Amino acid sequence: MAAVDISPAAALRRRAQSPTPAVVYEGREVSAAQLVDSSAELAVSLAANGLRRGDRIAYLGFNSVTFLETMIAAAHLGAVFVPVNFRLAADEVRHILDDSGAHTLVVEEGHRELVESIAAEVPARRHVLVDTDSVCPVTAAPDAVWTPLSSLYGSGRTAREPVALYDDDLAMLMYTSGTTGRPKGVMLTHGNLWWNAVNVDSVVDTRADDVNLAVAPLFHIGGLNALTLRTLLRGGTVVLRRGFDPAQCLEDLVRHRVSSFFAVPAMFAALARVPGFAEADLGALRSAIVAGAPVPPQLIRDYGARGILLQQAWGLTETAPFATYLPAGLTLGKAGSAGAPMPYTEVCLTDPVTGVRIQETDTRGEICVRGPNVTAGYWNNPDATRAAFDDAGWFHTGDIAHRDEDDLYYIVDRLKDMIISGGENVYPAEVERVLAACPGVLEAAVIGVPDPRWGESVLAVLACEPGTAPTVEEVRAFAGDHLARYKLPTRVMVAEQLPRNASGKLVKAELRRWVESHQPVK
Ligand code: AMP
Repeated sequence: MAAVDISPAAALRRRAQSPTPAVVYEGREVSAAQLVDSSAELAVSLAANGLRRGDRIAYLGFNSVTFLETMIAAAHLGAVFVPVNFRLAADEVRHILDDSGAHTLVVEEGHRELVESIAAEVPARRHVLVDTDSVCPVTAAPDAVWTPLSSLYGSGRTAREPVALYDDDLAMLMYTSGTTGRPKGVMLTHGNLWWNAVNVDSVVDTRADDVNLAVAPLFHIGGLNALTLRTLLRGGTVVLRRGFDPAQCLEDLVRHRVSSFFAVPAMFAALARVPGFAEADLGALRSAIVAGAPVPPQLIRDYGARGILLQQAWGLTETAPFATYLPAGLTLGKAGSAGAPMPYTEVCLTDPVTGVRIQETDTRGEICVRGPNVTAGYWNNPDATRAAFDDAGWFHTGDIAHRDEDDLYYIVDRLKDMIISGGENVYPAEVERVLAACPGVLEAAVIGVPDPRWGESVLAVLACEPGTAPTVEEVRAFAGDHLARYKLPTRVMVAEQLPRNASGKLVKAELRRWVESHQPVK
């Protein structure tokens, strides 16, 4: 089979004549032709600054047109794009810049101070560019050259054609959210990104005139490649917001007649609490996909009662992102399931201890994935890559799941979060789901704490409605109807809110620190 050029820069050119805006960013329309031109100009200037094919270019900032332009410009040159989570601390950003060996960093004005604080410690050959929207004067940092990004546009020089890119060409290093340990750079090829779009287009009701609302962070694979990149490159309009604001999101869904929307469960929950949600006209919304963290079945049912079929998908940065997906027709009948394998992706369950393949239904195991959307491995980290793949090429995800008689998967928990109490496995997500349904409880998280009798026992942290603080007895009485005794919390603490990262995941390490600082755990 002849190789097909799958460069995003080339794909954008193919739709350059399209009259529909490619992006509506904070109310401003940007056509595909404008985006082609500005990213090509940027590519020329970046090349003049020494960026070559295979070099890494990092981006630190909120969602913006500049983010997209930088990503497309990188593809134009065959450079590797490294989006950086703007919520990270200076030390974590330094780790990513060092680990990726970034040649160029594009940073938004608001994050410049952070970069200046580490500029002396990162290699000086790196060019640090300030965002075009910057209104502040540009100053020089000790070991970095600050160049205003605006000076890289409008050069008038005609750009060379974008380089052709194929399946195995590296597109991005995406550092995983790192709920534990140091973030690792997931190597995503252009093939990985492209095959996710092929998977999505095979099962989701996507169309060339889709209007996609993008509010999840683009530095995360869900925000970028669940639906947004495919909409941008295949002909629709992306309504892009710098971030997620629930009321703004509802207004956008109505005003732009949004047809496709990806968000994490916490965002869908917040959206449903916006005044006016029940009456808003969301009739244009055909594909509403939820993934990225455990999805409470009640959320699916509540949206179903509102006439919106939330479709659960499951995946990871390493699977670019989707490995399973539940079709709209099954949403309500199978609420809680993360669905069936994507058409071009294989999924199986293995025993986490023996590694033996699990064939039976309703038996828990580690969920493994194989296919063209699966990462080639971790950047500069052959040990982590070897540990993640088995000899048959299956990527071991670290998620625990089971499969029902219809071959639909249910994500139970993370392997590493499992609590072992009296020799029994306790999956926190299962307990959290029940506790979240306790009267007065908004959100619940559980962790294992040392227990002299059982080895570990369950400690629950609850975020509650104002004026509510259930006691451990009340919680156990409620949850005891739904869960075995060994899964019930032995201690309950109430917090104002639970620590979540930008992609909506509970950060258990932070929760554990909070617990320890509020009540020493012995
Ligand atoms: P990330 O690489 O940041 O996208 O995180 C991937 C992880 O998010 C997975 O390994 C799961 O633990 C979690 N996740 C994603 N989708 C789901 C889902 N539908 N249900 C439960 N957990 C999910």
